Amino acid sequence: MPSEFDLIRRHFTRPARHTELAVGDDAALFTPRPGMQLATSTDMLVAGTHFFADAEPEALGWKALAVNISDLAAMGAEPRWALLALALPAADEAWIEAFARGLFACAAQFGVDLAGGDTTRGPLNLCVTITGEVPAGSAVTRAGARPGDDIWITGEPGRGALGLAFLRGETALDAAAVTPCIDALHRPQPRVAAGLALRGVAHAMLDVSDGLVGDLTHILEASGTGAVLDLAALPLGALLAAGADVEFALRCVLGGGDDYELLFTAAAAQREHFGALARRLDLPFTRIGTITDHAGSLLLRHPDGSERPPECRSYDHFI
Ligand code: ADP
Ligand code: MG
Repeated sequence: MPSEFDLIRRHFTRPARHTELAVGDDAALFTPRPGMQLATSTDMLVAGTHFFADAEPEALGWKALAVNISDLAAMGAEPRWALLALALPAADEAWIEAFARGLFACAAQFGVDLAGGDTTRGPLNLCVTITGEVPAGSAVTRAGARPGDDIWITGEPGRGALGLAFLRGETALDAAAVTPCIDALHRPQPRVAAGLALRGVAHAMLDVSDGLVGDLTHILEASGTGAVLDLAALPLGALLAAGADVEFALRCVLGGGDDYELLFTAAAAQREHFGALARRLDLPFTRIGTITDHAGSLLLRHPDGSERPPECRSYDHFI
């Protein structure tokens, strides 16, 4: 039976690129570059709540880190260091090896050092803490939306929710769409390059993890503004091509979780800039609404021109 320390040494110790002291001591040591502010965030993935207990470990390793990196992307911060707190029911080395492979693949893609963590026996639970850097004073918060701003979304939100609905047997999918939708759910791509490019351009930003309605509401509350979301403008093409009807596609985008696209607001004068940025990053940017001065009011503009409050709300763990 491997000891806790054997597991850490074998599976979670890799050469660090920008960490003075990483795994192995009582604390990690790292230094932000001059002029940089630290941005830090933590996200927990709990078996039975966030994933099926028999989920594929490599994908879990990727996702545990990717969802944390996404939070830094949403601040316009560059991810640099991660801590991993892991509760495992057993020392299943094949499982741990695959989990670590997924985690380090994500770490390598986004330039993150695993700087430390904690490993304990218990019900399967994965908690990553991520720290990154942003030039002091230039982080993009949720609080900066201004009346008249355009509202934008990156990528094709809703595919993760559609993949989850498929796995739960709630919907059929076109055969060609199964892999992309399940990949969107299990191997989300944090929008780091977009987040960095939006520094100094976006007025307010967050990553969408609980559906557009709930997450846009966070921006409205933090900014003291309202919004009109234009349903006809939502990028539903991938969901419709996957076989979802419009109604179901809208539910996935407005109320589904697990997207990790960036939702942001910016001045209308920036529209052309986002066209160029979309081409450079090879990532769709879609303008989906407008910020209003009607604090706390979120209205959905329907294709018939009527504007009504949303009926669905986002995923919440406690209601
Ligand atoms: P302590 O008893 O001082 O808390 P631990 O025995 O928990 O130390 O951990 C030993 C070292 O291994 C520490 O540097 C810790 O950061 C690191 N570590 C433990 N678990 C993990 C993990 N899952 N991933 C990365 N580093 C880990
Ligand atoms: Mg410890």
